[in-house]
Amino acid sequence: MDCLFCKIIAGEIPSTKVYEDEKAYAFRDINPQAPTHILVVPKAHIASVDAISAENADYVAHIFTVIPQIAKAEGLVDGYRVVSNVGQHGCQSVKHLHFHILGGAQLKDTMA
Ligand code: AMP
Repeated sequence: MDCLFCKIIAGEIPSTKVYEDEKAYAFRDINPQAPTHILVVPKAHIASVDAISAENADYVAHIFTVIPQIAKAEGLVDGYRVVSNVGQHGCQSVKHLHFHILGGAQLKDTMA
C-alpha cells in the first residue's frame, strides 16, 4: 500500500521515533507547529477517524493510553492538545489515522 505512515512504521522512511509498541508508533512531526509536536499512529492502516469501527477500535483505545505516557515523558506538565484532522474540510494530508500531540508552550485559544 502506498501510504507514507505505513512506510514510516515499517522503517522504509526515516522518522524520529519517540515511542513504539505492538499496536502504536509515535514520531516527531517533520514540520512542527509547536515546540513539541508528535504524531501517534496505529500500526494497522486505518484511513482516518471516519474509518474507526468496532473491529479496529482497540488500536484507538490503546493509542489513548499511550498519549498520556508520551506527554509525561515529554514533560508536558502544563497541558497539551490532541488533534486528528479528517478529510478535506479537516485538512487531513496523510490518509493514515494519526493523532497530533501539540504542546511545550501556551497554544492559541482558537480551534479553527
Ligand atoms: P495532517 O495534515 O493532519 O494529515 O497531518 C500530517 C502531518 O504529517 C503533518 O503535520 C506533516 O508535517 C507530517 N508529516 C508529513 N510527512 C512527514 C514525515 N516524513 N515525517 C514526519 N512527519 C511528517
